[in-house]
Amino acid sequence: MKRKVAVVGGGLAGILSSLWLSEQGDEVYLYEEKEERDYSVNCGETLADVDDSRTLLPGIYENHIRNELSGVEYKIGDNSYKMSLHMTVLDRKEWQLELIDLAKSKDVNVSFGEKGRPYEFNNSYDLVVDARGSFRRENRDYAKAIYVICGGDFDPNKMILFNRECLAGYYWVIPYSKDIANIGYGGEKEENISLGDLRNLFNQVGVSNSDIVERGGGLLDYTYGDKLYQEGKKRDLVYENFPPVVEVGDAAGLVSPLTGIGINGAIKSAKLLSQNIGNLQRYQRKIYDTMGKTLSRSTKMAYIRKNNFSKFEDIIKILDGTKLPETWKKTFLLKHPIKAMRLGKELGSFEYRKKLI
Ligand SMILES: Cc1cc2nc3c(=O)[nH]c(=O)nc-3n(C[C@H](O)[C@H](O)[C@H](O)COP(=O)(O)OP(=O)(O)OC[C@H]3O[C@@H](n4cnc5c(N)ncnc54)[C@H](O)[C@@H]3O)c2cc1C
Repeated sequence: MKRKVAVVGGGLAGILSSLWLSEQGDEVYLYEEKEERDYSVNCGETLADVDDSRTLLPGIYENHIRNELSGVEYKIGDNSYKMSLHMTVLDRKEWQLELIDLAKSKDVNVSFGEKGRPYEFNNSYDLVVDARGSFRRENRDYAKAIYVICGGDFDPNKMILFNRECLAGYYWVIPYSKDIANIGYGGEKEENISLGDLRNLFNQVGVSNSDIVERGGGLLDYTYGDKLYQEGKKRDLVYENFPPVVEVGDAAGLVSPLTGIGINGAIKSAKLLSQNIGNLQRYQRKIYDTMGKTLSRSTKMAYIRKNNFSKFEDIIKILDGTKLPETWKKTFLLKHPIKAMRLGKELGSFEYRKKLI
């Protein structure tokens, strides 16, 4: 059955939903509120190799790779821990603009400069996809993040993540190359964060204000994992409006408060929507089956960082790539935080520490 679908929001989740639905034969209208000339993306731009997301993508992302990273250095106070994790740093704006062109070539009707209201479409549409990203709204929790692109002297192979004692508490340094990096700061919604907060980090990584070439910031909606962790119940992503509304990407709250990773949720939700467009309740279940556990576990880890910083450090210690068996390294933190916590507890014992070193 050919459906007429309105997709509201031309970020990654909205573009991919449009592209894949159109490829399946639906008639798709994509509405992006920004004008084409002002199109922008607020992001650290790292696609982390934590799941099968990149295998779902049209190959063109490879045209927009800025850098490949082989690991993360976790900084906790004065201590440093290493974790091997492959990440690709992308020029997201250029990539998404090429994806929009691809969507147009597959008959998606794209309108820039058009603000959509998902609950106010008329019945000439069969379905509305809410891909508006994160923004302040009732009953939603979100983190804030700001960043700068700046010149400096960086290790081009690894990301640095400085942790601090709060839920979405980290600073990052994501190198594009040895001379340029994206440096950012995550914080909770109650915090009044500003670029001034980055100064402390600038000192540590040898960057000065005059090195800044660009600045940006945005919100990260982590309500999906938070709801599962706090209340143990699945969040509704489908609303029986006329026409029905279904959420994807940040609009569905698919971001980890632990790491700020949300690109993967945008890709996976768009793919799952296209695969389950005829049965939206199944789409909702599939989100839970494929992402629910990871998101609620990483939310749990984020709460440990907030409420028990020394326990958080113990867990990170066992993830230090220099002490772990090869098979444990990759994505261990995200995939097995409960196991990690147990091991972290044991790590407190000298005997266990001896075994690891
Ligand atoms: C500073 C920062 C750094 C980040 N770094 C990383 C990272 O390194 N790795 C990672 O995996 N994730 C990162 N994230 C998260 C990641 O950027 C998001 O999870 C991802 O962009 C979600 O895609 P989306 O399409 O759901 O939403 P968005 O990318 O936010 O796109 C939403 C789009 O909808 C449009 N829109 C909004 N309202 C309307 C409306 N009413 N009508 C029409 N259009 C509308 C907006 O203009 C926007 O273009 C970061 C986020 C921030 C804020």
